[in-house]
Amino acid sequence: MARPGVILPILQNWSCHNCGGCCREHQIVITAEEKKRIDRQKWTSADGIADDQPLIVAHGTDFRLNHQADGACVFLDERGLCRIHSKFGEAAKPLACRAYPYAVHPSGNSVTVSLRFSCPSVVQNLGEPVAQQRQTLEELAGEIVPSNYQAPDAPQLFAGQPMSWPDVLLLLAFVERGLAIGKANFATRLLRVLTWIELLEKTPRDAINVEQLGHLLPLLHEASVRAQPDDDLPLVEPTGIGRTLFRQLVAQLLRHDTDMTARGGFMGRMRLLSDGVRFALGRGHVPAMADPISVRVAFSRRSAKSPESAANTSAAMPAFSQLEKEFGGRNAEFDELFVRYFRVKLQGLHFCGRAFYDMPFIDGFRSLALMYPATLWVARMRAARDGRTVVSLPDIQAALATIDHNFGYSPALGMAAAKKRIQQLARMQQIPALCSWYSR
Ligand code: SF4
Repeated sequence: MARPGVILPILQNWSCHNCGGCCREHQIVITAEEKKRIDRQKWTSADGIADDQPLIVAHGTDFRLNHQADGACVFLDERGLCRIHSKFGEAAKPLACRAYPYAVHPSGNSVTVSLRFSCPSVVQNLGEPVAQQRQTLEELAGEIVPSNYQAPDAPQLFAGQPMSWPDVLLLLAFVERGLAIGKANFATRLLRVLTWIELLEKTPRDAINVEQLGHLLPLLHEASVRAQPDDDLPLVEPTGIGRTLFRQLVAQLLRHDTDMTARGGFMGRMRLLSDGVRFALGRGHVPAMADPISVRVAFSRRSAKSPESAANTSAAMPAFSQLEKEFGGRNAEFDELFVRYFRVKLQGLHFCGRAFYDMPFIDGFRSLALMYPATLWVARMRAARDGRTVVSLPDIQAALATIDHNFGYSPALGMAAAKKRIQQLARMQQIPALCSWYSR
């Protein structure tokens, strides 16, 4: 079969700025072939790697790159550069290292490319336009998608409702237009899309095909605009249960399981458990959580603290109740970032189907929609921690870089309980309430 075409995100730039964050935050699984290649590279103390330092560790049936005592990849040098890259060139690195922050997913007869906003250069839109990196990305996609590529089934619309790839692409284009175009602020546009997605869920099943959708979607959009005019965002306070479920989601998005946390042992696991309970209760102060290293390097005005010392800053953490006040989250600069984020995730199909816990389109889109209030909640926490009452663009960027690390990757977010939480929030009409409440 011919190699599928590669669809790149528009509006997004990226080049690596060597913050070293991904070399500390990720456990890199390598193939048997990559293990042999690294073994053949014959690393010695002359390269700055101690002779007794294992380079590769077994993890179950996998092999992973080892980490140094401070959590950095065994190949990260003191300048923040990869030793394999410096000595043998980029092509000698494991595929997982070369692919980050790109995420490549088969979709119908094409391959889509999305990006992970956990990289500070992605979230800040720094570097070369992705559209100009076509050749590199086509080569990368060729390595990731096997030559005996079989087009996967399209994601379902909702559980039990299949869709064809043309249905999916039409729906995607419509959602993207709804979020990107119009005079209303992003929160209003998002609420409109959530409204017509809900109407679509109630549509008779035989109307869900590409011909009918072509007529139906504009009507649903018009109905949602009538229900939600420009600049008239309803303020609905989320319920207690809605907030509890939301804080549980935020806690899972904030939790980063790195090599350092794995070394935390029993006490480390107990602290994570206790933090989870405190998030669910929402009383007292927000537990202190160390920022990812890339976020500390890119956004923090404080000195880069070790995870242990950062975890001891509870005195500076705000009370949960403080984060329910207004923080000025609606602003054209913030909206530009959210539009870019949503468009990259939509164009890259990085929110449903194979790339996202096999979730149907609607549940996956609701998960993506919840990234909006979750980002704003974490941005409020950052602002309040610094004694401010208004969020800034770096707060929003740092918040998104922190929580997108887990979006689509944390096994906890793919578990049945996490999927049910999204459905429960939708049934209780809490997703629009959370979006409007935390955007104030
Ligand atoms: S997190 Fe991004 S900018 Fe930092 S080293 Fe990794 S790819 Fe480069």
